Amino acid sequence: MIKFVLIEFYHFENNPDTMDIVIIGNGVSGVTAARFARKLSDHRITLISSETKYFFSRTALMYIYMGHMRVEDTMPYEPWFWEKNRIDLIEAHVDKIDFKEQSLTLNNNTSLKYDKLVLALGSASNKFGWPGQNLNRVGGLYHMQDLEMMEKYSENLERAVIVGGGLIGIEMAEMFHTRHIPVTILVREKSYWNNVLPAEESAMINRHILKNGFDLRLESELDSIIDDGAGNACAVKTKSGEEIKCGYVGLTAGVHPNVKWLKETELEVNKGIVVNNHLETNIKNVYAIGDCAELRNPVEGRRGIEAVWYTGRMMGETVAYNICGKPVAYDPGIWFNSAKFIHIEYQVYGDVLANPPEHHESFYWEHADGDKAVRIVFDKNTDVVLGFNLMGIRFRHEVCEKWIKNKTPIDKVMEDLRLANFDPEFYTKYEGELVGAYNRAYQRNISLQAQGTWDRVFSFLKP
Ligand SMILES: Cc1cc2nc3c(=O)[nH]c(=O)nc-3n(C[C@H](O)[C@H](O)[C@H](O)COP(=O)(O)OP(=O)(O)OC[C@H]3O[C@@H](n4cnc5c(N)ncnc54)[C@H](O)[C@@H]3O)c2cc1C
Repeated sequence: MIKFVLIEFYHFENNPDTMDIVIIGNGVSGVTAARFARKLSDHRITLISSETKYFFSRTALMYIYMGHMRVEDTMPYEPWFWEKNRIDLIEAHVDKIDFKEQSLTLNNNTSLKYDKLVLALGSASNKFGWPGQNLNRVGGLYHMQDLEMMEKYSENLERAVIVGGGLIGIEMAEMFHTRHIPVTILVREKSYWNNVLPAEESAMINRHILKNGFDLRLESELDSIIDDGAGNACAVKTKSGEEIKCGYVGLTAGVHPNVKWLKETELEVNKGIVVNNHLETNIKNVYAIGDCAELRNPVEGRRGIEAVWYTGRMMGETVAYNICGKPVAYDPGIWFNSAKFIHIEYQVYGDVLANPPEHHESFYWEHADGDKAVRIVFDKNTDVVLGFNLMGIRFRHEVCEKWIKNKTPIDKVMEDLRLANFDPEFYTKYEGELVGAYNRAYQRNISLQAQGTWDRVFSFLKP
């Protein structure tokens, strides 16, 4: 028995096929790559990050500040997981990559060789060169350190001003709000997140933000952040000349790939690190995934950079297969995103565009309370369903995905709407209303099929 263990150990350490896989970045994309590389191989795997030693769920940052979770609750894997799976963790910053020598220089004066390198560097908050953007009491909401800074300056804070109206801005606003800190939100556009949300949904979010007591300023742009004379932000000035006193400025006007330090190297970098559909960069043995990667040829209708959780996870899995000798092209699947605007849950599947092309028709239903809506987008010429936008109502992911993949006609979707029903008891009451509205809008006579019971859903989802 002992001999067997030794032979196994010897075999692993000296296996000539065993490579050094080094992954920079321990976010969802890097960690997924490491996990899958371990499932698929015996290679040595090292994960490096300067942010935190252990992977945490970035999407849960707000819940730490709001006291719903401790930092450790946001970590999907226990500390023993890494050792058990032979994934070495290094907490350090990678300062330099020598692509010819295949080595990295870390900020702790050590260097590291790699056979395969995965760049999973994530994003950084946008700063557009505003005067005062680097003062104390000014920060984004991306890294754990941003959260620590918000925490540090929250005590006795009389007002926070948040610059930028997207998914992260609303989270930051909600965070301060839960500590009874008044919040002003500056949004350059006419309506909240209207470059992504169709007009009705965007208007719903404007109303919801105002209803919840936030000072939302639409068509209001940051000019500069004012210094109190001691290096701290004490107010902002808008482009219209208004001055708003505050003790914290949140910069949430989007993110960009965290790749500035690689721009002067031989690595091909556009906005992100350019990769082919096997996630390979222009340099041999170097790959890029997640928020920092930019696909050279994204599939039709999709963007080169998709800075969302699910993309990172899918790319992480794909890159592991490619590194471990099982080549596979990255398939982004049907577009999906989900988030929350204070109390309104938001989900999108497929193509729902703020500025749709002429052949996109959309059926939109909104509940009388103004806090719930369903939009179903279909092709005007073929009636095939293209996408779903859901506000305050949840539909089953797999069901919506299958309807879109199978090019299901909108009439059939309406008839089978109950298959998508997440919580029949709660949502049944809206379906009749929804189908009635559809029948009236398109002169149809569709009746809802019976309940979306597990049996029916299961048989619908069967491949
Ligand atoms: C507040 C917030 C809420 C979000 N909510 C949602 C949501 O609801 N749904 C959704 O789909 N997406 C959401 N996102 C986006 C999602 O979290 C990101 O798309 C995803 O986490 C990116 O993962 P990643 O692995 O590509 O990069 P990251 O998670 O950014 O990981 C990269 C890591 O690499 C480290 N690193 C970078 N350079 C170096 C270096 N040189 N040396 C060492 N370490 C380095 C970074 O510090 C970081 O820890 C949210 C993001 C934020 C900030």
